[in-house]
Amino acid sequence: MPGFEVFGEEEKQQVLEVFDTGVLFRYEFGDQRKGVYKVREFEKAFAGFTGAAHAQAVTSGTAALKVALAAMGVGIGDEVITQGFTFVATWEAILDIGALPIFTEVDETLNMDPADLEKKITDKTRAIIPVHMMGAPARIKEIKAIADKHGIAVLEDTAQAAGARLNGQHLGTFGHCGTFSFDAVKTMTTGEGGMIITSDESLWRNCSEYHDHGHDHAVNPGGRGGEGRSFVGFNYRMMELQGAMGLAQLAKLDAMCVSQRKNKAILKEAASQISGVSFREILDEEGDSATFFAFMLPDSDQAGRVNQVLRDNGAGAINFAENTWHFYPAWEHLIEGKTLCHNGWPFHAHGKRRFIYDPVALPASSELMSRTLVYQVPVQFTDDQRDTTLNALKEAAQL
Ligand SMILES: *Cc1c(COP(=O)(O)O)cnc(C)c1O
Repeated sequence: MPGFEVFGEEEKQQVLEVFDTGVLFRYEFGDQRKGVYKVREFEKAFAGFTGAAHAQAVTSGTAALKVALAAMGVGIGDEVITQGFTFVATWEAILDIGALPIFTEVDETLNMDPADLEKKITDKTRAIIPVHMMGAPARIKEIKAIADKHGIAVLEDTAQAAGARLNGQHLGTFGHCGTFSFDAVKTMTTGEGGMIITSDESLWRNCSEYHDHGHDHAVNPGGRGGEGRSFVGFNYRMMELQGAMGLAQLAKLDAMCVSQRKNKAILKEAASQISGVSFREILDEEGDSATFFAFMLPDSDQAGRVNQVLRDNGAGAINFAENTWHFYPAWEHLIEGKTLCHNGWPFHAHGKRRFIYDPVALPASSELMSRTLVYQVPVQFTDDQRDTTLNALKEAAQL
């Protein structure tokens, strides 16, 4: 990670084709655009790549989550279950749609623990959002089976796992729909951008119209055309420059993953010399997009000591228990219900707190995250970067 490491002539060429027409808007301008529809082409290519029937481009991965939830009919009074290790965007989207996020533990996959999911389903659960964190799959087949048993839809937050597969099948295609992010630090990037994939045509049509103010797309599926509106929407449209970037980056995605898998294997080999080390459970090594490398020590003290050596040698690892963006106990604004809204929405409704987020509600995840160390895996290691990291890991192995 990320895709900007491999920006080149392909991206420039794609973007120039847009400037040649002068049309940045994804719809209309039929006379000026000389047949150039980059966003539409990107959607087709992304659907084709993942094996989904339909794809809907939007402005960000956060917007993709929001649009998908809206299209699924999720709203006030509903609970949506996700995992306590994710990026804040996952639950921001749930809150924004009016629903309540409910958090599960993660297991050694560092993704949703299916046993805990089962415990957290209530008669208000309207959707389940497993997140394929750090490029590798959640136990999506087990999660889908539990969801099916209860008749609940699954949305896969695949923001961090574009290009990843489980037994040959792309992540994001197991559930009712999957969402992706192409922000500046994701494996393939369009600067800002997102995508929803689904094989449910009516869900896709809802996404298509909702993300474009509810405009009627029925007469021209995937595009504008009609005048009426079936429901209220919003504006989450991707622009042509992003579509152009997406086409160039998508063409490089598989090669980026191959290269990351190679670099990750180099890191893993070196880390395996550390005393007491174990590794994140990866359900399908061949399908791993390998954007991150995660390893565990027996307890948080040992993880702290190892990371100190890594830091002292210029290659400190991330400990997500110490990071304030990705792990539940550190989300003080969620836990304290901080909002700009004068009446406390979405944390309060009718003068009452809707749900208490207890900071110690996920003890198993806290224990696991406190002893997990993570490296981002570059697409291209510089010699310096590789030597420094390998040397640091070697020093840590002396402990
Ligand atoms: C990046 C990310 C998002 C949000 O994507 P943006 O494009 O930055 O809005 C959502 N979920 C996860 C897990 C992410 O890592």
